[in-house]
Amino acid sequence: MSPIREEVLRDENLIRSLEEIAKDTALLNGVLMRTKETPNSPELVSYAPFTLFPTPVPTALFYQALAVQTHFNRLVDRVSQNPTFLEDTLASTIKVDDFTARLFSIFKQVHQECQSQPIVLGLNRSDYMLDQNPDGGTSLKQIEINTIAASFGGLASQTPDVHRHILKVANMLDECDHILDNNPAAGLARGLAKAWELYGSERAVVMFLVEDIQRNIYDHRYVENELWKNNIPVVRRRFEDVCRTGSLDQQKRLFVNGQEIAIVYFRNGYMPQNYTSEQSWEARLMMERSLAVKCPDISTHLAGTKKVQQELAWPGVLERFFPDEPETVAQIRATFAGLYTLDKGEEGDKTVAMALANPDQYVLKPQREGGGNNIYGKEICEVLENTKSSSERTAYILMDKIQPRPVQNYLLRPGAPLKLNSCLSELGVFGAYVRKGNDMVFNECVGHLLRTKSSEHADGGVAAGVAVLDNPLLV
Ligand code: ADP
Ligand code: MG
Repeated sequence: MSPIREEVLRDENLIRSLEEIAKDTALLNGVLMRTKETPNSPELVSYAPFTLFPTPVPTALFYQALAVQTHFNRLVDRVSQNPTFLEDTLASTIKVDDFTARLFSIFKQVHQECQSQPIVLGLNRSDYMLDQNPDGGTSLKQIEINTIAASFGGLASQTPDVHRHILKVANMLDECDHILDNNPAAGLARGLAKAWELYGSERAVVMFLVEDIQRNIYDHRYVENELWKNNIPVVRRRFEDVCRTGSLDQQKRLFVNGQEIAIVYFRNGYMPQNYTSEQSWEARLMMERSLAVKCPDISTHLAGTKKVQQELAWPGVLERFFPDEPETVAQIRATFAGLYTLDKGEEGDKTVAMALANPDQYVLKPQREGGGNNIYGKEICEVLENTKSSSERTAYILMDKIQPRPVQNYLLRPGAPLKLNSCLSELGVFGAYVRKGNDMVFNECVGHLLRTKSSEHADGGVAAGVAVLDNPLLV
């Protein structure tokens, strides 16, 4: 299925002229990324990779994803406030997964100190693919929810105008109205602003904790600049800066480079490689102990693990989090794909047998973020055969493989030759919430993101160089 007629897709002259117009329009609209060669300099930038045409998404499924987002916000928040649930759920994982174990030990340490910051800020992105049903329909299935460093809310605010312009030039005026405006950057900033206001100190700053390599800085800048518009000061710091100059005062206020930090907004710290030294871990612990609002705090970070996702899909578990809300439970559960435990025991053994019998129907997932970590096809068999009788298998969960319908499109990427590709898309929905004590004072769905990749690639996001930015064309 494609809204773009076959003769348009195959009209080489038209495609070539659209290619140049598309890239120029992306640059004019600030859909930017720094280059691989000079990621820390603004002297040479390029466009962020994107699709030539927007991708059709059924209107009802799109709105279903938006409608369930505030429920996911509350779910993540409730999971994060349930230490017993987190502890029970992650018990098997942390025995074999060092990274999750380290995060968990910070969680335990801080929890014992009972020093919790009453203001909680969550900025997340729930990702979906549209699964083809046997009856020919499609359904919305969640891939995962990102509770830390969910990206592309900034650039996604700029891409609708690019695709509208391309459609106009391609003489597809009617389709332009089927691309919605989108401004996650403003929504994420509203969440940050609310938390900053509640923190209650004019001088205190919002600290974006960023990586050393800053290729995707413009995505951040959109959110930063929204805050500056409201006179909320923002600084960008790395783990190293926090290690060198960070400290807590008597009241546990966090200071970095002499400035009081109201919010630590993690755009880093989600992968083991982000912690280059013991000092980085110490810095994470110090920030966690501080009075600064953490986005996310350590328990919200853990609430976003794949093991927690799998446990939430177990019968009866959602009901524990929403005891009086069967509608909410039903709405959330409708988006779940099959998720299976690999814990030691009968259930885990059943999962292994099922995966070995039909490996192409599943994805094997470790507790990692950032793309490129999942295992597919016959490699699933290799891993499971090797870990069958050891506890190593509990580092993973198994998930039904979602099978979206491929769509033909061109992917525009600096330096890559243009070619018609069979593509798969993933819809992300941004959520923002702020809780003060027991009161949810802000809970919103703040926008969306469509990412598309060639169907040759089983895995990988935009930052990993596999997926590109896209827009839903509602059909
Ligand atoms: P990460 O935290 O690394 O982003 P994801 O769970 O999002 O992990 O998986 C990475 C990519 O793998 C997704 O963007 C998607 O393309 C693919 N993928 C993940 N789970 C599935 C699934 N159940 N079915 C099909 N593809 C999947
Ligand atoms: Mg992902």
